[in-house]
Amino acid sequence: MFSWTADQEHLRAAIEDLGGALSEGHAARDRLESFPAEQWKLLADAGLFGLPVEEPYGGLGQDLLTTMFVLEELGHSCRDAGLSFSASTQIVSTGVPLQRFGHERLKARHLPRIASGEAITAHAITEPEGGSDALRMRTTARQDGDSYVLNGSKTFVTNGPIADLFTVYARTGTAPGVGAITAVLVERDTPGLTVGGSISKMGLRTSPFCELHFDDCRVPADNVIGRPGSGFWIFDYVMKREILCSFIINIGEMRHRLERTVEYARTRRTATGPVGSHQAVAHRIVEMKVRLETARLWMYETARKVQLGRDTTVDVAIGKLLASTANVRSASEALQIHGGYGYTSEYGLEQQFRDALPGLTYSGTSDIQKNRIATMLGL
Ligand SMILES: Cc1cc2nc3c(=O)[nH]c(=O)nc-3n(C[C@H](O)[C@H](O)[C@H](O)COP(=O)(O)OP(=O)(O)OC[C@H]3O[C@@H](n4cnc5c(N)ncnc54)[C@H](O)[C@@H]3O)c2cc1C
Repeated sequence: MFSWTADQEHLRAAIEDLGGALSEGHAARDRLESFPAEQWKLLADAGLFGLPVEEPYGGLGQDLLTTMFVLEELGHSCRDAGLSFSASTQIVSTGVPLQRFGHERLKARHLPRIASGEAITAHAITEPEGGSDALRMRTTARQDGDSYVLNGSKTFVTNGPIADLFTVYARTGTAPGVGAITAVLVERDTPGLTVGGSISKMGLRTSPFCELHFDDCRVPADNVIGRPGSGFWIFDYVMKREILCSFIINIGEMRHRLERTVEYARTRRTATGPVGSHQAVAHRIVEMKVRLETARLWMYETARKVQLGRDTTVDVAIGKLLASTANVRSASEALQIHGGYGYTSEYGLEQQFRDALPGLTYSGTSDIQKNRIATMLGL
């Protein structure tokens, strides 16, 4: 099992200490679908957004495992799952590809603002016509001298309504296949970019998402991240880290929910004893624990392999399936074990159920993860 150093524990504890302040007022914000700007600032001041950013660019230079360890605590301590989801998008969407593939000018200009939280970031892959088959994207980036001109639309862009920087994946080649996609950094005030209004949704309601429209949107060729045509590999690199970072938050959320459900089952009385003394209930709680621990171990072990540079395509897909389905089951079991109270807004469990469900869809749906595993099995 993994053990953590005093420095890693120190970073984790800083987020645990913020838990109350991050969670305060979250139910009202959920109702209003309002982004928690004050709590965002708390996370920025705590250095969360700079965790994986190298020190010369103002970050803390932490590795993937440490970043995940701290994010797990965010999920455990913070009841605003939308805030946590937006925070993981901030960490992964633009800073990660920029740091690994970006050239020095682009890194020097943007990474310090991303690490400090001054610039909010998003990434745009999905299009209104479909997201599962990213290679079929229609948005184009046509080279014109020392510029690229973008045309097309993206949708469901997390943080989009409030973002300053977008990593946009667009088609630069005409031939089908992986070599036709390029990652381009687009600043919000670029003429030709229209940022749509926030789209109302069922869960993660404090994390806004929206459409983006590009109409002859001209960006300097210098804004290309990596080489033209390398976007698919950048996307693959980013998605692995997105899945590990956003779903380790779910693991933290499940841990908190398990603690809370055990407490309830020990103290809520029935005619013959506490709710939890009934084997039917106790077994459901045990299954919550088994799914949580299995998914948790798998996620950290996969991150360890990622850090060693191993091929983790199947491991990441399995991890996403394990964590997302465990989170939905955990939320629905907790709701059920809390009886009628579980169904009330006051107890917050119905919100957790709504927040868990989109995990089956974002970062590649469960069907797509299974397709990926089937392909690797030679099917
Ligand atoms: C909360 C949330 C946040 C998101 N954030 C972002 C973001 O920041 N940036 C971004 O670009 N996108 C984002 N998305 C979009 C997300 O990545 C897509 O919704 C997802 O990839 C599915 O694409 P789609 O919605 O177009 O569904 P479709 O691709 O139209 O799929 C519809 C259904 O068909 C199934 N299906 C499709 N193709 C296959 C196949 N080949 N085999 C089997 N089943 C298949 C899918 O599993 C799904 O059930 C977000 C989505 C949500 C819900």
